[in-house]
Amino acid sequence: MTTSMLDQALVRLDDAAQHLKLDPDVLEKLKYPRETTKTRLLIRMDDGSRKSFMAWRCRYDDTRGPTKGGIRFHPEASIDEVETLAFWMTFKCAVMNLPYGGGKGAVQVDPRKLSKSELERLSRAYMQAFAGIIGPDRDIPAPDVYTNAMIMGWMADEYASIVGRVSPAVITGKPIALGGSLGRDDATARGGFYLLRHLETELGVGPGARVAIQGFGNAGSHMANLLHGVGYKIVAVTDSRSGIHAPGGVSYDDLIAAKQGAGLASLADSLPGASVLSPDDIVGVDCDVLVPAALENLIHEGNADTVKGKVVVELANGPITPEADAILAKKGIIVLPDILANAGGVTVSYFEWVQNRQGYYWTVGEIHDRLKASMENEGRAIWLLANDRGISVRSAAYVHALSRLAEAIEAHGTQQFFTS
Ligand code: GLU
Repeated sequence: MTTSMLDQALVRLDDAAQHLKLDPDVLEKLKYPRETTKTRLLIRMDDGSRKSFMAWRCRYDDTRGPTKGGIRFHPEASIDEVETLAFWMTFKCAVMNLPYGGGKGAVQVDPRKLSKSELERLSRAYMQAFAGIIGPDRDIPAPDVYTNAMIMGWMADEYASIVGRVSPAVITGKPIALGGSLGRDDATARGGFYLLRHLETELGVGPGARVAIQGFGNAGSHMANLLHGVGYKIVAVTDSRSGIHAPGGVSYDDLIAAKQGAGLASLADSLPGASVLSPDDIVGVDCDVLVPAALENLIHEGNADTVKGKVVVELANGPITPEADAILAKKGIIVLPDILANAGGVTVSYFEWVQNRQGYYWTVGEIHDRLKASMENEGRAIWLLANDRGISVRSAAYVHALSRLAEAIEAHGTQQFFTS
């Protein structure tokens, strides 16, 4: 029997449950997604033909508030992946004490193969299909892999025309001109960056440390910029196509120029001692900090033993399988887990939603200060819990989140076991 991704993710729930005295009702509620809606989006292509794409939206659990989570456009998206990502969002929002449950959406599509107008029609079709489930007090989407502010803007616009009023709080990660928040663009990386910097002494890293980054999209590229900016040495970067290994370090500007030009591998010709790196080889690169910033299951049973970094910062969701977790722990490698390390994105999404609802907008400095304080407070609490109980930082993050979820489930009372 093959295990689903969700089953794998639930291993972490069972593990956390062992560290808490829980009412069995709590686990019964958190073991299954509350609702997953599936539809086929039929859109008109530029050549006049019609094409259909599978789409989903999962509201995993709304005990602590409206469900929150991104929409992914990816050719390999599946219902299992969407439900797993929604499960992680449930715990991520609880880790950060945001008044949200967890949700996620996806369309099975390679957006790189669509024209801009096809992409717009697809994004609007998604909102038309799911407008009944989505809403500022019910389910609030945001960007995820291969979606961005432009797509969120189209979706917000479509929602406004469906409900007949402007309703910016329905979706986050919007363009600034449509009520987006300053600081949302680099928030995922910035949250991980603040966390890493806050724990530098404990982790034994700091400026000068060598960093390898897998993925050069929103999270990976901003992380390269932030870490390079304070003196960390970026020694390897890959995207889905190619990569560069530069033991002497590579600047953020060079990376961006290569990404926009001939590709990351093209840097191998201009940097001394540099070589082309295949995306599969990033895991074993000699470094101090490894930053997975793309998709799930990068580090698994088959390659975990090759990891050389002493710290892994999970900017991606689910980049390490439970089997690989055990191998890394044995090697003494510390993992700053996804539900904490990449929570900066949803935290600034929350700030955006708050600003939309109050109609009053904060400065980028205010956003950064609040994000930094949240990452440091929750990060410190989880770090202390891990040390106190002698458990991994990941287990501690789950225990931290699960105790908040359990408290909310119990507070709802037995009569109203399912909300909304
Ligand atoms: N997609 C991001 C994540 O996985 C952000 C979600 C949000 O902002 O709601 O955390």
